Amino acid sequence: MGPLRWLPLLVRLLLLRPPGARPEGPIRAFVVPHSHMDVGWVYTVQESMRAYAANVYTSVVEELSRGQQRRFIAVEQEFFRLWWDGVASDQQKHQVRRLLDEGRLEFVLGGQVMHDEAVTHFDDQILQLTEGHGFLYETFGIRPQFSWHVDPFGASATTPTLFALAGFNAHLISRIDYNLKEARQAAQELQFVWQGSPSLSVQQQIFTHIMDQYSYCTPSHIPFSNRSGFYWNGVAVFPEPPADGVYPNMSEPVTPANIDLYAEALVANVKQRAAWFRTPHVLWPWGCDKQFFNASVQFANMDPLLDHINSRAAKLGVSVQYATLGDYFRALHALNVTWRTRDHHDFLPYSTEPFQAWTGFYTSRSALKGLARRASALLYAGESMFTRYMWPAPRGPLDPAWALQQLQQLRWAVSEVQHHDAITGTESPKVRDMYEEHLASGMLGVRKLMASIVLDGPQPGAGRAAPAADPGAGPAGHFVTVYNPLAWTVTTIITLTIGFPGVSVTDELGHPVPAQIQNSTETPSAYVLHILATIPGLSYRHYGIRPTAGAQEGTQEPAATVASTLRFGRRLRRHASHGASRLVPVVNDCYTVLLDQDTNLMHSIRERQSNRTVRMTQEFLEYHVNGDLKQGPISDNYMFTPKDAAAPAWEAVEMEIVAGKLVTEIRQYFYRNVTTRDYTYAIYSRLTHVPQGHDRELLCHRIEQQYHVGPLELNREAVLRTSTDLNSRQVLYSDNNGYQMQRRPYLAYSNNSIARNYYPMVQSAFMEDGSSRLLLLSERAHGISSQGNGQVEVMLHRRLWNNFDWDLGYNLTLNDTSVVHPVLWLLLGPWSVTTALRQRSGLALQHRPVVLFGELAGTAPNRPGSQKQEAVTLPPNLHLQILSIPGWNYSSNHTEHVQNLQKGHRGKAQADLHRVLLRLHHLYEVGEDPVLSQPVTVDLEAVVCGLGPMVAVEERSLTGTWDVSTLRRWSWATETGHCRGCSTFPSRSPEGPTITIHPKEIRTFFVHFRQQ
Ligand SMILES: [Zn+2]
Repeated sequence: MGPLRWLPLLVRLLLLRPPGARPEGPIRAFVVPHSHMDVGWVYTVQESMRAYAANVYTSVVEELSRGQQRRFIAVEQEFFRLWWDGVASDQQKHQVRRLLDEGRLEFVLGGQVMHDEAVTHFDDQILQLTEGHGFLYETFGIRPQFSWHVDPFGASATTPTLFALAGFNAHLISRIDYNLKEARQAAQELQFVWQGSPSLSVQQQIFTHIMDQYSYCTPSHIPFSNRSGFYWNGVAVFPEPPADGVYPNMSEPVTPANIDLYAEALVANVKQRAAWFRTPHVLWPWGCDKQFFNASVQFANMDPLLDHINSRAAKLGVSVQYATLGDYFRALHALNVTWRTRDHHDFLPYSTEPFQAWTGFYTSRSALKGLARRASALLYAGESMFTRYMWPAPRGPLDPAWALQQLQQLRWAVSEVQHHDAITGTESPKVRDMYEEHLASGMLGVRKLMASIVLDGPQPGAGRAAPAADPGAGPAGHFVTVYNPLAWTVTTIITLTIGFPGVSVTDELGHPVPAQIQNSTETPSAYVLHILATIPGLSYRHYGIRPTAGAQEGTQEPAATVASTLRFGRRLRRHASHGASRLVPVVNDCYTVLLDQDTNLMHSIRERQSNRTVRMTQEFLEYHVNGDLKQGPISDNYMFTPKDAAAPAWEAVEMEIVAGKLVTEIRQYFYRNVTTRDYTYAIYSRLTHVPQGHDRELLCHRIEQQYHVGPLELNREAVLRTSTDLNSRQVLYSDNNGYQMQRRPYLAYSNNSIARNYYPMVQSAFMEDGSSRLLLLSERAHGISSQGNGQVEVMLHRRLWNNFDWDLGYNLTLNDTSVVHPVLWLLLGPWSVTTALRQRSGLALQHRPVVLFGELAGTAPNRPGSQKQEAVTLPPNLHLQILSIPGWNYSSNHTEHVQNLQKGHRGKAQADLHRVLLRLHHLYEVGEDPVLSQPVTVDLEAVVCGLGPMVAVEERSLTGTWDVSTLRRWSWATETGHCRGCSTFPSRSPEGPTITIHPKEIRTFFVHFRQQ
């Protein structure tokens, strides 16, 4: 949920008569009871459970059982599962099953949370949806069919595609730009069929409903009563519900004296809304944040009100009924209306008023955003590593139940943080702490699991592995094990911090490995070791690190080379020369980076293959924003509200070049003013010199930049601006959730143009001209914008405080004093080169190899060769999106599963380790690249070679719950004709393990292997 400060606007709008004629025929209002339950925001999950969330399910289940006409929709599965597993009695569980059978309690969406759409990665969206759907299907045999995305701050075009792939029949959103919502309301265009992916277009299109201006809350301002509208149960109280059941702000009960007034208010509102839609069916959400914790008061008042209206339906022209979301969409679908279609454009960014652009949260709490992505990447690695450990036969005595528990804990934590008040950074500090604790504890468990697999020792918890020191390593030596979770061979640099200045690095066969050592910038007594690692797909390799006497000549040992440092004195910003520059080159096989000695700033980059030089300079700027409501609009954790252009945030720069044989690092330190000792900003740019004989395609073609940002001064928003001579015409491209790109031309608004031209970058962004493209890849979400031709700026950090009571009351002011260290990879080159590299480089950054170092604590890993695993290598346009053992215990045959549930086999008895979940994703759009955009045919048996002989392959819907051959999504008529393809999946090839995957397809399989 977000601030309620747009309510006055709604009240104003309420008074306006909407244009457009009322639809023909009597109006049917579908009153959909719901409670919006944020999985963390102001209060933690546990606090919310205690204060209201558990009571929602306890009281709703009881009240639905008391009235056959009553309905309720349940959304966030995390709360429902906590109630189901920890609170519900057997009798309540029995009632839930009956209500579900009768269709009166309906699960919509079905994810653990209602994920944010702007700053989440689609892998994580799928994860959190799968986590909830797996539980619902296993427990109830239920597959949600409708989405309820009522609160995310703007809508991504990835969502309709994913929801279509999950088998949904209709999609529902609410928060889109206020101008757009007004216009669509007036034109009766809040409903349409959305073709979210340009490549999948009609095959995965989905009917989409945008909620009208009242959004998901019941109108709360009615002229009589105590103005709290239709909320008879009042407002939830923290930390405990009031003992007497009397809550603040409870509305006047419905009585014979006021029932006509209530009926008039409800009917007037229904009629007003009906005018905004093309059919006489009106969705009337009954609820808001934290409602229905006392469902008996709610229904006891609404029941007579609905009866009262229905008894006068002919006169009023309106009938009302309780409904689930499914009831509404079924009735709408039955009308057979022909709908407009919408293409793949998203609804970002989102503004609620002229000076309320919700583009700040793209960057808010950057540290949490980074942690969430690292946790997700670690989970991805842990899943495939465990799967490969278990198949074709468990490779050691590890307890699979313990292992699944570790994975499960992290699945839950990564799902939770996708919530729209979590990864968005819009929560209170204590709720941020909760997410971070859950993530950290889950990560610890999965790292333990991975170390156990490597050590192949007894299970943790049942005693530690006996330390078996390897005589070869010596007492001070280290082992490091590196796992590559991608299904391609990866050549990359692994970086460790060690305690001695001279080492030699060898692989498991004792062969020397290229390595480089240098002084640590952070710890004076420590050293940074770079190792060039080449690791086949889904495999791990061990390296031994042995101290040497130093990199002295005459020793026989192949020692790590030592980098040397060149220092450049402090240069002042105001003294920057405008004449001929004295340039220092840093060169690898792909780029020449030129640095200006007179300013210590970057000057230009030459891409060596195309031999084109692009002028390029980078600096840090800050937006100085307002926190005093009396002075005008404010920036907060949601909103970015700059008054003026950004100003340089530094007065002086120092530079060092640490030149090595393997890696050269350019360090630029930016000082806030001339006299300060500590820098606020830094850029560490790294170029790799890939030795002959090693794959250089990806590694050579990137300039890795790590930043040091902070701590910031109050009410500052920090950006890194890269200015080039690319004639980009101020058009930027940025991604939706790492899945697809959106074109973002600069749009001139009458006000707040800077903020409204900010967009989310989850994984990649670029700008280009006729001959070159500058591509940025990121490992966490940021806000990004082009505020000038050839310019791109990335917002890296925000520190804010304001005096808005609402923000202060909930501790939502974002006074973030942290230092953050985000990473970007820069790729520069002709369109053809960057297109070929973008997807794989993005994944290489997202899924950097997992380095197990401290976890091994000097213990020798299993002996070379004993864990020999076949490498997995997919074609370059195909990504192994997941390989895991989910553990769900249900029959893949739906009829059989439902029969088992009816017989009382409730699953959960024991995790099923035989079902392997495999998902493949074609990385390219139609027409994006002449070669890589082609459909690709693979033999699944070969893809998962090493897991044993394949017994069966079943193609499933996105979250695994449907056999795709039985999935028939609803077809919605469009102006371009009925979509024949959308009721089934395209290009199925059910026979045999050879499948063809088309551009942008995401295909999910259950694979069963023969145990050996
Ligand atoms: Zn919310």
